[in-house]
Order: sequence, then structure tokens, then C-alpha cells
Amino acid sequence: MSKTFLAIGECMVEMAPNGSGSYVMGFAGDTLNTAWYTRKYLGDDWNVGYYTAVGSDEVSSRMLDFIQGSGIDVSAIRRLEDRTIGLYLIQLTEGERSFAYWRSQSAARCLASDRSALDASLQQAGLIYFSGITLAILPARDRTTFLQALRTARTAGAQVAFDPNLRPGLWEDADTMRTSVTEAAGVCDFVMPSFEDELTHFGDADPNTSAERYLAAGAGMVVVKNGPEDVICARTGDLRAFQPKSVANIVDTTAAGDSFNAAFLAEYLSSENVEAAVAAGAGLAGKVIQHRGALVECLQPA
Ligand code: ADP
Repeated sequence: MSKTFLAIGECMVEMAPNGSGSYVMGFAGDTLNTAWYTRKYLGDDWNVGYYTAVGSDEVSSRMLDFIQGSGIDVSAIRRLEDRTIGLYLIQLTEGERSFAYWRSQSAARCLASDRSALDASLQQAGLIYFSGITLAILPARDRTTFLQALRTARTAGAQVAFDPNLRPGLWEDADTMRTSVTEAAGVCDFVMPSFEDELTHFGDADPNTSAERYLAAGAGMVVVKNGPEDVICARTGDLRAFQPKSVANIVDTTAAGDSFNAAFLAEYLSSENVEAAVAAGAGLAGKVIQHRGALVECLQPA
């Protein structure tokens, strides 16, 4: 297996209030969060890359500098002349966070519009990681292209991991979301949903039902996260539950699932031990949620 982990999706400018009336600029996105944590967990013998499309402007360059500065390979990222990157603003009202987005014309929406560029980036990868947000932002025809490219990469030996990250507001409608996510699960070795999303948008009775549904769609392994409750790891005919360690002092659950996925996959790629992989995933997520923000520095592997 090629020792390249490639995450694919959208990274945006984040404007976060600093508490005194102005905003601090950062960069974030679900798939980037996972790449960022994976870089910390995988050994130096692994290359961790990110694939997306950005603009040719200054803010896009700053984002690439940020990603590269965290040790992630940005060499395959497409640069477009006529677009720039998306942006979101965090609003705090009486301590509650809400988000305003400017992403409908973002460059990342074009990430699958050039099949040969996509194929070239996938060719290097041993493990390809993407999410339901990656799919949601693509025009419908590019979703088909994207899944075809994944099938080709898989035939050539790559493994594929997917977090459905169900966000109906990003899709044209909820039925399209459910159909596309189910089709995507069928080209994946690992499907890593959060039960809360699956309950809300698929109406699953319990996490085992989510696992069985994605296995029936063709997933190789399904890992269902459920906050403090058991993590379910299922393959056809083999379903196991693992209790994550309890966590005191939860400050901010942003990126719990993204960081879990990173440490789970990094551990599983080296040991193929599901129990150790859940312990690594839950160990990292448990630390991340004790801090504010998506990207928490100075976390040693569990
Ligand atoms: P998401 O962020 O995608 O909604 P979850 O909330 O299901 O994901 O959490 C992902 C993982 O983070 C869980 O499997 C668990 O390991 C850890 N986690 C999240 N919330 C808690 C919590 N309250 N106590 C302990 N672990 C938690």
C-alpha cells in the first residue's frame, strides 16, 4: 500500500470573534481537520496530502501556506483564476455559536471538474479520505465523476474512507443527500458516520441500524460514533461495540468526529486492530473536546 493519506474537500477562511469586537482569521474545514490530525498521528514514513481547488489570489496563497506549514502536502491542489476560497463567520449570541457562510461560489466546488487532475492526485494515494460535505458542494455531474475516480483508484489498490457528515443545507434536497451518501458508501472501505446525524436524517432506530444500512450499501467497515456512547465497528457478520473513555470538562465538541477519524485510521493503518483504533480515536477526540477550537496543538498520541 502506498504510504500516502490524501484528504479531499473544502477548507475555508474562518473569522472568529476575539471577544473585543474584532475577528481573528484562521482556516478550517472538516476534511482538513482530519488531515491535520492524521499528520500528527502517522509516522514520518507517511505523506499526508490535501486535495481541493483554490483561487490564484493572496488569501488562497495564505491558506496554502497554512496547510503546508502543518506538514501537509499541497502540491496537487488546483489553482483557479476566476474563483477564490469560501469564508465563514462565527457569531456569538449570549455564548451560543452560530455560523454565516459565503461559500456558494467557492473554488472548492470545482475540485472534481478536471478528471485528469483528480486522477493524477488519487494515483499517489494509499488511503483517500472525503466527507459528505466534499460531495455536497459539487455540482451533480461532478459527484458522478468523483465517485468514478474513486472506483478507479480503488481498482488500482487505494483504500477509501468516508464520513457522511450529513448537512442537508448544503444539498439541493434531503433525498439527493441520502441517495448520494448511500451510493458513496458503496465505494468505501471505511464509512465513519456520527449517529446523531444518521438518526436525524435517515431515521435510524439505533447505531447498529446505521451500521447495517451502510454495510448493505457496500461499505467494507462501518464505524459509528455516538458522542459518549459506544462506538460500533461493523463488518458483514461481525458487529462490535467499544465504550470510549469518559471525558470530564468538555469545553467545545468542534472536530470531535474529525479528530476521531484521524486517529482511528492512523492506528488502523498500522495495526489493523479495531479495538486499538477505537481507543486511539476516542483518546484523541476526548482531548480535543477539552479545548476550544477545531485544531488543538500539542496533543500527544494517546
Ligand atoms: P461528531 O463530532 O462527528 O458529531 P461525535 O459527537 O459522535 O462526533 O463524537 C466523536 C467521538 O468523540 C466519539 O466517538 C467519542 O470518542 C468522542 N466524544 C464526543 N463527545 C464525547 C463525550 N461527551 N464524552 C466522551 N467522548 C466523547
